Amino acid sequence: MTSDADLRDLYQEVILDHSKRPRNYRKLEGANRKAEGYNPLCGDHFTVYVNLDGDRIREIGFEGSGCAISKASASMMTTSVAGKTTAEADALFEQVHRMLTGALNPAEHADTLGKLTVFSGVCEFPVRVKCASLPWHTLHAALADRAEPVTTE
Ligand code: ZN
Repeated sequence: MTSDADLRDLYQEVILDHSKRPRNYRKLEGANRKAEGYNPLCGDHFTVYVNLDGDRIREIGFEGSGCAISKASASMMTTSVAGKTTAEADALFEQVHRMLTGALNPAEHADTLGKLTVFSGVCEFPVRVKCASLPWHTLHAALADRAEPVTTE
């Protein structure tokens, strides 16, 4: 039997793990897409690198600095979209964004969101929504090949 409090602890553990040991935390040499994102409210600042093979994300990496939520979100974003097509990644971005703003019930989309549902509690903390969504907005800009930096303001 698992209580709600236990689940919250578990979620925090996943977030802590990814913030302490972010996956794909590296500059991708030979990346053909990249974008920079800022969240001035919190000071989160990341660059996302993508190596697109046709319309498929062959490799993805990121570097920068930010709070635990933004770093964990960036780390989990990279593991979630690696190997996906740009259309699939954008569809996931759409779902994550709706989850973070409380517009989507994560339980109904657990099959596509997977571990990303750990961020569903963030919608209760409006300031943190920007931290969690920044890496996704930055990915979106990289895939759209937008040159100007993304800002959450
Ligand atoms: Zn932050």
